Amino acid sequence: MVADLHCHSRYSDGVEPPAELVRSAAAAGLSVLALTDHDSLEGVSEARAAAAALGTGRLEIVAGVELSCEDAGEEIHLLGLFVDDDPAAPLARRLAAIRETRLQRGEAMVGQLAAAGCPLDLEAIRATVGGEGSFGRPHIARALVAAGFALDLDDAFRRWLSPGRPGFLGKPRLAAREALDLVHRAGGVVSLAHPIWSREPDEVIRRLASLGLDGVEASHPDQSPEFEARMRALAGELSLAVSAGSDFHEPGRGRSVGVRRAAGGEVEALRERRPA
Ligand code: AMP
Ligand code: ZN
Ligand code: FE
Ligand code: FE
Repeated sequence: MVADLHCHSRYSDGVEPPAELVRSAAAAGLSVLALTDHDSLEGVSEARAAAAALGTGRLEIVAGVELSCEDAGEEIHLLGLFVDDDPAAPLARRLAAIRETRLQRGEAMVGQLAAAGCPLDLEAIRATVGGEGSFGRPHIARALVAAGFALDLDDAFRRWLSPGRPGFLGKPRLAAREALDLVHRAGGVVSLAHPIWSREPDEVIRRLASLGLDGVEASHPDQSPEFEARMRALAGELSLAVSAGSDFHEPGRGRSVGVRRAAGGEVEALRERRPA
């Protein structure tokens, strides 16, 4: 059993429909795929349907979500895995409220860009987001590139969408404690995504472990083998599970589905940490 436990579809800032991720996962020989869209569980049912069409038992879909959180003044991303994706459940409802805030922020960012000389078609950008999925800076970045206001995605972020640049607006972040609680109440487990993004990863992990963190994403495309080894050692010391994932968003950026994988035993260790 091998798993990719971190990827994004067009229900957040990925570009592909869940069924396409499912096809890629099967082609890569995975047996487990977690869909972890930002602030959204909307794609999970489509992923499940596509996986079922492959045949019983070929590919398990894990319902997941990536939450932007605040810890000690810094942004961190927490992956909720094995959650209940029922749209009427408290987690899904909280996520819907977060997405509404994201939409308002997106509209305001597009307004700021228009004032700065980059008029964009808000409705056309919204149409690139699946269903009621979550609207974010990457959608605007792609529109900036398409309209010729940036050379590529990195340029769009650097020039227009980073703190201090004309199109930027921050977004509300969940307190890490609240995110841990939300996911645990939804029956899931929490792994810290891409710890390399933190200034002091070890400190963040130790602090979150004391609040109930379940695992650490030891393997991620932004992390070197040396960093991965360090994360595995720390997880062992703190009795945390480990996760691994591609953080796939779109083809062509070096992060195909399955490029980072968790082993079967690692998936089971995460699953076993689900609250009773
Ligand atoms: P948001 O949550 O709307 O603030 O958008 C943040 C997301 O944008 C991150 O989770 C990344 O997926 C993506 N992102 C950030 N910086 C870049 C970049 N330079 N190029 C492409 N995507 C980026
Ligand atoms: Zn993303
Ligand atoms: Fe992230
Ligand atoms: Fe991600």
